[in-house]
Amino acid sequence: MAIQNIGVIGAGTMGNGIAQVCALAGINVVMVDISTEAVERGVKTVAGSLDRMVKKEKISAADKDAALARIRGTTAYADLAATELVIEAATENEGLKLRILKEIDSIVPATTLIATNTSSISITKLAATVSSPERFIGMHFFNPVPMMALVELIRGLQTSDATLAAAQAFATAIGKTPITAKNSPGFVVNRILCPMINEAIFALQEGLATAEDIDAGMKLGCNQPIGPLALADLIGLDTMLAVMEVFYDGFNDPKYRPAPLLKEMVDAGYLGRKSGQGFYKYD
Ligand code: NAD
Repeated sequence: MAIQNIGVIGAGTMGNGIAQVCALAGINVVMVDISTEAVERGVKTVAGSLDRMVKKEKISAADKDAALARIRGTTAYADLAATELVIEAATENEGLKLRILKEIDSIVPATTLIATNTSSISITKLAATVSSPERFIGMHFFNPVPMMALVELIRGLQTSDATLAAAQAFATAIGKTPITAKNSPGFVVNRILCPMINEAIFALQEGLATAEDIDAGMKLGCNQPIGPLALADLIGLDTMLAVMEVFYDGFNDPKYRPAPLLKEMVDAGYLGRKSGQGFYKYD
């Protein structure tokens, strides 16, 4: 039977986006965070986003109200007891995620699927912490979740075919397009995207071209909607560096070494848009 009741752990950027998309697709969502303020902030963000969709006439006011009524914000993990799928989208920290997954495992039935939205932690390692690891899978959504069509489904070594099939059906039911990948640093999209951005930083560092020309080259020559250096500023240079370090350590391969200029910019506090200065200046 199709999944009708899910849990989402974390009401932050990704958690509230996932909750919104699922609720709009008619699914009941229990959204858990650590404090009432965080839960309320998450619900408020969803309400604001749905309001904008009503204004743009993408959904009706009744659709908005129905979707909001399907989201129950809470700080109590016990409220997950009746869910058929739990998607963990809490802060990216391995120790924290291992603790959260143990807690989920102690509450939900053995038939409940457990997924994680982690960007960089091994799915196999996280799966090993739950009692039936064959029902564990990576479900990697993209930001902003309501806008981005893709979900990467990542099989850990233990993930069963039935779990993958259920995750594919669920992703499709909420209007996303799933692709399937093995467990490996960066999965598919970030594995290809981040080294490309890193290479653009090497090119800038070598004086091959200006930042503006590198970005114009990739936009006009490859039809990319935004140049790699502007995209790095958007992602955050500290996040970019952390991802490249995960690849460098994970593959033990020098081809993933972070560009020295990237490290230096992070040391300087030039983190991109969020700090007002990256490869470009922002007001
Ligand atoms: P965020 O900081 O916006 O939100 C994380 C939320 O988790 C916070 O509200 C925090 O209070 C909550 N949290 C912390 N400990 C918790 C606990 N014990 N129980 C419940 N909630 C807890 O982070 P985010 O950007 O939404 O990222 C969440 C996950 O999604 C991470 O694993 C990240 O790697 C992944 N991800 C992020 C993006 C992105 O672009 N932001 C894209 C894909 C995947």
